Amino acid sequence: MRILLAEDEPDLGKAVERVLTREGYIVDWASSGDEALGFLELNASIYEVGVFDWMLPGMTGVELCKWLRLRSLSLPVLMLTAKDKVEDRIIGLDAGADDYLVKPFSMAELLARLRALRRRSPEFKSAQIQIGNVLLDCDRRVAVLHPGKVEESIVELTQKEFLLLRYFMEHPNQIVTRDMVLNQLWAFGAEPNSNVVAAQMRLLRRKLGEYGDLIETVYGMGYRFNPPE
Ligand code: CA
Repeated sequence: MRILLAEDEPDLGKAVERVLTREGYIVDWASSGDEALGFLELNASIYEVGVFDWMLPGMTGVELCKWLRLRSLSLPVLMLTAKDKVEDRIIGLDAGADDYLVKPFSMAELLARLRALRRRSPEFKSAQIQIGNVLLDCDRRVAVLHPGKVEESIVELTQKEFLLLRYFMEHPNQIVTRDMVLNQLWAFGAEPNSNVVAAQMRLLRRKLGEYGDLIETVYGMGYRFNPPE
């Protein structure tokens, strides 16, 4: 759900960032190739998809693709470009881009291409995760308590509650630190204040009712999701 966007046109970058954020993606937006490289060098593995403009100040989108592939990083990349000649497309694909979108494009098409890329990604998260009596439906972004039983109840989740619960359910029995939560839920540079993680945890626990207790506070370290035996 985290996307690295490399786009130097401020208006387009802002528009894409806004649309992707509304769709529930966490977006790190770099306005030059070198800035994008900085994000990748910091931690390329946190991204599910890269959206790279071809022509960027500093490294180009094509060079970013090559950089990834030389390091055997499989991050799916969607190239954005004004170039629409067949030769250009071949250069982009040869460099390791997975798909190609010619400017100007509609946001609806961008979102559709991203969904397709995520489905092909080895990192793709399955649509439903169930642990014990808690089922997380990733398409509808709801938690279902006691799925399939008489007492079944559906809990609507905000974007952050959903991302948080998904992260816990994907990392059961592991200590999840405050920094790990921040990295999952906020774009770099967002700098939320220090109480937001605790506040999000409170909201999520409350929504989960009796199951909120499955998320244990590990004093001085963070949190741990303890699925029922
Ligand atoms: Ca550009």
